[in-house]
Amino acid sequence: MKKTLSAATLTLLLFALIGNADTDTTYDLVIEGARVLDPESGLDAVRSIGIHDGKIAALSSEPLSSRKTIDGSGYVVGPGFIDLHAHGGTLLSGRLQAFDGVTTAIEAEVGQLPVAKAYETAAREGRATHYGWTAGWGPARMQVMSGVIADGTMGRFTSALHDNRWTKKANPEQEQQILELVEQSIKQGALGIGLVNGYAPTVSHREILKLSALAARHNVPIMTHQRFWGDSDPGGDIAATQEIISNAITTGAHWYICHLSLATVDVTQPMIHAARNKGARISVEALVSETGSTFLGAEFLAPEVLPYFSRGFKPHDILYYGKPIKDNEELKRLRQKDPAALIFLLHRDSENNLAHRATQRQSFSLPGTILGSDGMPWQDRKGKYIPGAAWPLPEDAWAHPRSQATFTRFLQLWVREWQEFDLMDAFRMGSFNAATSLQDQVPALANKGRIKPGADADLIMFKLDDIKVRADLKNPLPHSLGMHYVIVNGVPLIEHGELNTDVLPGKPVRR
Ligand SMILES: [Zn+2]
Repeated sequence: MKKTLSAATLTLLLFALIGNADTDTTYDLVIEGARVLDPESGLDAVRSIGIHDGKIAALSSEPLSSRKTIDGSGYVVGPGFIDLHAHGGTLLSGRLQAFDGVTTAIEAEVGQLPVAKAYETAAREGRATHYGWTAGWGPARMQVMSGVIADGTMGRFTSALHDNRWTKKANPEQEQQILELVEQSIKQGALGIGLVNGYAPTVSHREILKLSALAARHNVPIMTHQRFWGDSDPGGDIAATQEIISNAITTGAHWYICHLSLATVDVTQPMIHAARNKGARISVEALVSETGSTFLGAEFLAPEVLPYFSRGFKPHDILYYGKPIKDNEELKRLRQKDPAALIFLLHRDSENNLAHRATQRQSFSLPGTILGSDGMPWQDRKGKYIPGAAWPLPEDAWAHPRSQATFTRFLQLWVREWQEFDLMDAFRMGSFNAATSLQDQVPALANKGRIKPGADADLIMFKLDDIKVRADLKNPLPHSLGMHYVIVNGVPLIEHGELNTDVLPGKPVRR
């Protein structure tokens, strides 16, 4: 007699079948047999990565099956770079940074105001890579002190930079209004407070102390271009670092130092190290490019201030569209005529000067150091912003080469040519450290910067020998080469070195 299956047995059988089908899941995408580097676990081995629904679903030493497979043999795969110091913010700047291996670009230093508007615009237009902003203290100050109503764009901020009313000392009511505007944007989901103190160095210490208390109250980082710059004393790097340490300890806020000044790293790094040991929470970012870039209207470029700024500059250390400025007369005239022009500032030259290289090497040495680009917005030569949807980059565009060649520069020079760092260091400093420094305050970063099941599928794949930086100070236009695949949120944005302009996989990073 044939045995009939009971309902219970049937259910069990069905369950087993479903379970079986589950383990055979074909992934959306598999990278097969690449050398995978994970800075969190230290894994450096050949693995296959299964990607499903924007996440890493499997990391396996066995082959995985999928609808689409990328042959990773001979390639390195690591977490996409996280740039916390990117001023571009547009679709265009994100696309160009993708060729630099950047999958998340955040504007921490200047920030935006109102931050909700910046996020809305980005979501409406779409972005190639992940994006986010801090609450902009600079724009808040411009609104209160100069009457320039912030509109959530970088252009509004830079066009009002030269009108220095915004840098003046605020009275108590104005101070209150500035703090309220910043707080509104924090409540809208800003990642922290962006504090361009160095562009307004004479604001009161009380205002900055209050801002630090505000950051602590909302448990957000305060990310700063420090008040003073360089080795002038009093009033240089040491004083600026003392103020940061004091505010970090007394208010309990997490201070993030944008672009650590190289002038006195031998003094400021031990200060920061000692402060950390006493409980101060201070993160440090170091720039890969040592040629500065800012807007010609910035206060510290005024002829009377320039000799005292940083190492002490002369007009010819400023490159105006690739050409040195002759003298103070020309500097004065150009500042008046073209305050929004993007200039380059010749700080140091690590490629040709070994002492400079040693100093910059030192700037990377504090534990947890984060690499940043300080990438600038793309403008035409009249200072007008290039529309975000533009592609490819128009011929008359201009920006500092670091805007699209920072992490590839680190890979090419510091890892491959000078062998001062290895690939794991590059992924740690370029990605993992950025995620871990902020993740308890910005939970969206807790799944970035590492390669493990459950992590965000933001991945880059390349051969170190293929990395080639092409942008330089004379011609910043050509993007870097060598990123074979750039995957954002599980979606290939760059495939076989070519940008796919049909996909916009970038998502907001927001609190
Ligand atoms: Zn800065």
